Amino acid sequence: MSKLTQTNWDVIIVGGGPAGFFAGIRCAETNPTLNVLIIEKAQQTLGKVLISGGGRCNVTHACFDPAQLITYYPRGGAALRGAFTRFQPEDTIKWFEKHGVKLKAESDGRMFPVTDSSETIAECLRESAKKAGVFVQAGMSLQKVESLSENGFRLEVQSEAKLLHLQVKKLLLATGSDPKTREIVKSLGHSIEEPVPSLFTFNISDKRLEGLAGVSIESVTVKMDLFTQRGPLLITHWGLSGPAVLRLSAWGARILFEKKYHATLFINWLGDTSFEKTLDVLQKHKAWHENARKKVLTEPAFTQLPARLWKQLAYFIGEKNWGDITKAEIRKLAEELTAGQFEIKGKGQFKEEFVTCGGVRLDEVNFKTMQSRVVENLFFAGEVLDIDGITGGFNFQSSWTTGWLAGNFMASTG
Ligand SMILES: Cc1cc2nc3c(=O)[nH]c(=O)nc-3n(C[C@H](O)[C@H](O)[C@H](O)COP(=O)(O)OP(=O)(O)OC[C@H]3O[C@@H](n4cnc5c(N)ncnc54)[C@H](O)[C@@H]3O)c2cc1C
Repeated sequence: MSKLTQTNWDVIIVGGGPAGFFAGIRCAETNPTLNVLIIEKAQQTLGKVLISGGGRCNVTHACFDPAQLITYYPRGGAALRGAFTRFQPEDTIKWFEKHGVKLKAESDGRMFPVTDSSETIAECLRESAKKAGVFVQAGMSLQKVESLSENGFRLEVQSEAKLLHLQVKKLLLATGSDPKTREIVKSLGHSIEEPVPSLFTFNISDKRLEGLAGVSIESVTVKMDLFTQRGPLLITHWGLSGPAVLRLSAWGARILFEKKYHATLFINWLGDTSFEKTLDVLQKHKAWHENARKKVLTEPAFTQLPARLWKQLAYFIGEKNWGDITKAEIRKLAEELTAGQFEIKGKGQFKEEFVTCGGVRLDEVNFKTMQSRVVENLFFAGEVLDIDGITGGFNFQSSWTTGWLAGNFMASTG
């Protein structure tokens, strides 16, 4: 990468992640007369893209109705409503196709490059930036920003132990969840919603889950506090994971943080089957004379549950036959199946995707342009904002959308 010699820029984008690249490319492609610089503090740009989606990069989600799309964002949905009418997953797919990358959708709606490699996305963004004439400087970090009354901003940046000063008309902060840069954002007069982790697994140590690591159930309902989610669940060595749990972690991110990741989780292992319906099935199963002499543990009443899981949920019945169990035991079993209680004792890491909720307060940003309402010519895009989605490609989508909108506006106002 060539050295930076120029000190005056039309546009500087801080952060060489997906939001920063998308903004830079859109800006330079739309107005090639502008000189656009991206600075990235790491030695390599697009670090998160490369590790994303288990190395496959879940670029977006096949959901093309903005009204539905925003329901996948525990924070930021309302602000994104209008933004998605301007740039949404359909536009992301077209954008990548135009820049040489075809995306494919999986049965659950997640979209990946057809190569199944995040390298393809990173390469595409780097190449597109280069073609558009965006100057990218890695190994350079923003230290301070001074807002100049008339002529944009003066930045203090550090590169290889040297401090440099750059001047710029328009500044976009696309710095993700970087804590140090949040302080810079505050120094410019913005407020920050306190950042906390989102998208994590639950640590649960419970006899009923012992020895079941790897077992998955297609559809359960999980409840915690006021939040409910339905979907697949995976039992792990440390507790629970899978889409239902990850989504619940996103919606409950703040509450779980406040409770220091200690909370009670209720699981309906039968999806949406009610307690009464379950009780009825169990009573009929008991009444059926062929079952009467069979052991409860080895003769499950619900075959959609893995046999090993059934055995552990019905553990308290011991060696009894169906014919010998009491009314109280049947009720307890129905409760165990539809509202099993588990104590969350901490959070684990979901390796395929991870985000922080919190960031720049959304009412301080104009979502048509991504311009700050506090400081003129200052812009924000991506995870630096108080936006986060559930797992499935929604987090990248908000970066593409907000990055594109910022780049578009910065280009049009020269
Ligand atoms: C393991 C993992 C897997 C993921 N997988 C997916 C997925 O498959 N699908 C999905 O939708 N989302 C995924 N995500 C979430 C997604 O990566 C983020 O939402 C997205 O990267 C946010 O983009 P961004 O450009 O706003 O921030 P980032 O990607 O975090 O980029 C910000 C950049 O700014 C740089 N920076 C920060 N401060 C400074 C400074 N002072 N000076 C210079 N540079 C600075 C940082 O080094 C960083 O490179 C994943 C996240 C992780 C951690």
